[in-house]
Amino acid sequence: MITVQKYGGSSVASTEKIMTVAKRIKHAAECSQVVVVVSAMGDATDQLIAMAKAISKIPNERELDKLLATGEQASSALLTLALHELGTQAVSLTGGQAGIITESTPGKARILNVNPERLSQELNEGKVVVVAGFQGITENATWADITTLGRGGSDTTAVALAAALHADRCEIYTDVDGVFTADPRICLNARKLDSICYEEMLELAGQGARVMHSRAVELGEIYGVNILVAHSVREVPGTLICKEDDTMEARNPVRGIAHDTDVAKITVTSLPDRPGIAYQIFHALAEANINVDVIVQNVSSQGVTDMSFTVNLADLAKAQSVLDPIMQNVGAKNLTTSVDLAKVSIVGTGIRSHPGYADTMFGALAKNGINIVSITTSEIRITCLIDKADVQQAVQSLHDAFELEKPDGPVKGE
Ligand code: ADP
Ligand code: ASP
Ligand code: MG
Repeated sequence: MITVQKYGGSSVASTEKIMTVAKRIKHAAECSQVVVVVSAMGDATDQLIAMAKAISKIPNERELDKLLATGEQASSALLTLALHELGTQAVSLTGGQAGIITESTPGKARILNVNPERLSQELNEGKVVVVAGFQGITENATWADITTLGRGGSDTTAVALAAALHADRCEIYTDVDGVFTADPRICLNARKLDSICYEEMLELAGQGARVMHSRAVELGEIYGVNILVAHSVREVPGTLICKEDDTMEARNPVRGIAHDTDVAKITVTSLPDRPGIAYQIFHALAEANINVDVIVQNVSSQGVTDMSFTVNLADLAKAQSVLDPIMQNVGAKNLTTSVDLAKVSIVGTGIRSHPGYADTMFGALAKNGINIVSITTSEIRITCLIDKADVQQAVQSLHDAFELEKPDGPVKGE
C-alpha cells in the first residue's frame, strides 16, 4: 500500500510542529509505504516574496521561482531530520529529484509528467520519501530550470505523485478539519462536508477557497485520485473529494460559498469600438500568463467604449506593465485600477437544474445593502464582484439564505 500525505505551511510552521508531524508520519509508515509532500514553513513563501520585492518591483520570474522553491526545500530537509531522530528511515527530494517535470511558465507552471522511478526505488528501500512541494523542473535535461506551480501548489504536487504512484490514498493535512460550506474563519456556522465532488471543489477552489489548489482537484478528477482533506493534528474525520455519487443527490443544491479578496480590477477607458481591440488587450495578457476573469464591456457611445476586467492581485503590477505600452496602439485614453473589490460565489451542481438561484443570491445581498459591481456565471456557479469591505457580511448572508448550516437543507431558489 502507498499513501501520499501532504502537510501545509501552518502544520510545519515551527520545529516543534515539524516534530509533531514527524510522529504522525512515523505512525503511518508502520502500515504503508509513505510519500510526504511538504509546504514551506508558515509564511516563509510570503517572506521570500517580500524580500524579492524589496529589491525589485517586478522580480525576474526565473529568479523568483528559484528563490521560492527554497522554502519547501528547507522544510522537507528539516522534516526528514525529524524522522531520522525518531528512528524512521527517510530521504528528502526536491521536486526535480522526485521526477516532476513542468511547463516552463514561471510562477504557475503546470505539471507535464512525473517520472516516479527514483521515488519508487527509495520507497522499496524502506524509506519515507519527503518531497518538497510546489516545484518541479523544466524538461530540457541540460538546461532544466526550477519552476513553481502557483500559490498553494503543494496540493498539486501531492495529487500528481499519488496519480503517478497509483497510491491508495492521497491525504491533504491542513489547519482546518476539512472542506466547509464556507471559509470557517469568516463564516460562523460553516459546516464541514463529509464529501464533495471534484466539479464543485474545482469551482470553489477556482473562486478563492484556498483549502485546495484548483489544479490538484483537476488532476484528482482526471486520474481518479480520491483526496482526503483533514486536520494535521486533530483526529477528526475529514472531507473526501471524489466522484459525484447518488447520495449527493438528496442534499442542498448549493454546496458552498467561496470568496476571494485577492482581486484587482483594471479599467481601460475610451477604447475605439472596433474588431480586434479586445484581442490585442487579452492576447498581450495571455502571452504574459495572466489569467483574466469577470470581463465587462460597456455599451459603446460615439464609437468608444470602456472595458473592465479582474486579475489576481499578485498579477496587477505585471498586467499594468504589459498593458501600458499597448495603450497607444489600441487607441485607449486611460488605464485605471482598483484593489477595493472582492468576489463572492455560490457553487453547487444543483444550480444547473434549478432556476432561481440568482434571485435568492441577489435578494440576500440586496437585503444587506451590498452593491453588486458585476456578475459572472458558470453552469454550476454564480459570482458577484462586490466591495472588499462587504465580504464577510456577504458570505454570512448567503450562507444563511441558502441554509447551508443544515445537513439536508431544503431546496432553495425554486
Ligand atoms: P495549507 O497551508 O495547509 O495548505 P491553506 O491556508 O492553503 O492551508 O488552506 C487552508 C485554509 O483555507 C483554511 O485555514 C481556511 O481559512 C481556508 N478556507 C477557505 N475556504 C475554505 C473552505 N470552504 N473550507 C475549509 N477551509 C477553507
Ligand atoms: N509555499 C507555497 C505557498 O505558500 C505553496 C504551498 O504552500 O502549497 O503558496
Ligand atoms: Mg494550501
